[in-house]
Amino acid sequence: MNVEEGELRVDDQTGDSHAGLVVIGMGCAGLSAAVSYLEASEARGRDRVIVLERSTSEERGGSTRYTSSWFRVTEDRELDPDFVTDMESFSGGLADLEYCRTLAREVPDSIAFLEQHGVEYTYFKQGLPNGNTGGGLGMPARSGRGIVEGLAAVLEQHERAELLYEMEAVRLSVSDEGRVDGVAVRGPDGLLRVLHAPAVVIASGGFEGNPRMLTQYLGERACDMPVISPGTGNNRGEGIVMAVDVGADTAGQFDMAHIEPTDPRTTKPDAVIYPYTYGIVVNRDARRFFDEGKDSFDETFEELGYEIWHNQGQTAFLIGDQTSLSVAGFNECVFSDKPAVTAETLPDLARQLGIDPDALVETVTRYNAAIAPGELDPYRFDGKHTENLEPPKSNWAFPIDSPPFIAYPMTGSICFTFGGLRTDALGRVLTPSGRPIPGLYAVGEVTGVYYHKYPVGTSVIRGVTFGRLAGADAAAVAAVGAAAQPVR
Ligand SMILES: Cc1cc2nc3c(=O)[nH]c(=O)nc-3n(C[C@H](O)[C@H](O)[C@H](O)COP(=O)(O)OP(=O)(O)OC[C@H]3O[C@@H](n4cnc5c(N)ncnc54)[C@H](O)[C@@H]3O)c2cc1C
Repeated sequence: MNVEEGELRVDDQTGDSHAGLVVIGMGCAGLSAAVSYLEASEARGRDRVIVLERSTSEERGGSTRYTSSWFRVTEDRELDPDFVTDMESFSGGLADLEYCRTLAREVPDSIAFLEQHGVEYTYFKQGLPNGNTGGGLGMPARSGRGIVEGLAAVLEQHERAELLYEMEAVRLSVSDEGRVDGVAVRGPDGLLRVLHAPAVVIASGGFEGNPRMLTQYLGERACDMPVISPGTGNNRGEGIVMAVDVGADTAGQFDMAHIEPTDPRTTKPDAVIYPYTYGIVVNRDARRFFDEGKDSFDETFEELGYEIWHNQGQTAFLIGDQTSLSVAGFNECVFSDKPAVTAETLPDLARQLGIDPDALVETVTRYNAAIAPGELDPYRFDGKHTENLEPPKSNWAFPIDSPPFIAYPMTGSICFTFGGLRTDALGRVLTPSGRPIPGLYAVGEVTGVYYHKYPVGTSVIRGVTFGRLAGADAAAVAAVGAAAQPVR
């Protein structure tokens, strides 16, 4: 077989791929693992890394390619100081706190790692209006795509790296001694072959692109949820299944996912409607069902997205007016490329949305009448609330009475699933009795850590962090193995 991009560099005589590591997936987690492995094995200088990607090179990078990639960090690059306690309380004590503490400790080094590999980093002292993510937020200058292209470029220029596209990992290979020793892959020719390597890193994302698994774990009508980006649909859960097949344990909440309220009128990825805090949200019966002001949008949009999917038949509308639009940054918080629906009257707005005009007028009238006195301050928790209204609005409750009125339709789009593989803080996959499975690592979304609520801005940075740690550990294990068994 020729040694060309996209083809296996396989020894024609033996069929051996001669890799020291096979990585499944070219998102932030897999690419970080591959780069880290190469650097940590530089002294030995002979083990190759093969990175597999289900999609084409143009579409590589899964969800990472499409994420804004906010990092929940402080200005001095530390993870939000409340992260570990938040994880403990959100999860009701179920989250692996050693893993969380490792993440907190490693985040500054992970940001430095990205910068060292051509990924420009930037920090915004002021996040989006009414966002609560540590006050400001960090992110790569070119978002998630910058991570994918930056790290992939490092690999493309490295003689010991091989990137294989349209190559799906199907199952793991296990030696007679019980070590994971390779991956069975299927390429565009439809043939199954085994790539042998002493270590495998699974970085293939969650199961958000697999309707069968979504139905199995999240329940009825999971198939109604669109994926929030095309790359997200490439994550179909095989990484979880193949590891469980060789005895891996799982972690994270399998019946929960990060779901976001997005505009159903567009195919634009990440078309999230965030500024519902400055209006009201109604369902298809034109009734409110959610306290839009109970917290900042980045603390509640997951709950709203889940609620729209699970209990509201996938249909909801943000209703606002000119006061809503007067909030500085309102439009910047609308990630849709479609304009708001507008109308001079509420009945006309309702007719355009396809909901009952009388019911919308009644809902808005009751809401306006329930607003307690007080000054509106959109940029802090102003306590301006409703009284004797169910559900209440706890902050930013102002009358919706200044036309033209506006509306954005919303549906719940799936971003990532919570359930995944259980690992230790080096990314080693564990069995139910807590033993690492020799030769097997898992990093990023394919690993489970979140329960009940996702602390926004931690998924990419945990992918980079544990990718980095797993790649380095695989190289260290290879070095020890080589020392014990001199190369003949
Ligand atoms: C629109 C959007 C916005 C987001 N916003 C944020 C944010 O602001 N901050 C944040 O921290 N997180 C955010 N997230 C979540 C975050 O981007 C992801 O959780 C994270 O990027 C996942 O990284 P990963 O490397 O684990 O998986 P991915 O980046 O999804 O990569 C998995 C890769 O594995 C490949 N693959 C899957 N199965 C196979 C197989 N069998 N064989 C070969 N290849 C396979 C896929 O094609 C893909 O390239 C967002 C996600 C999206 C989609």
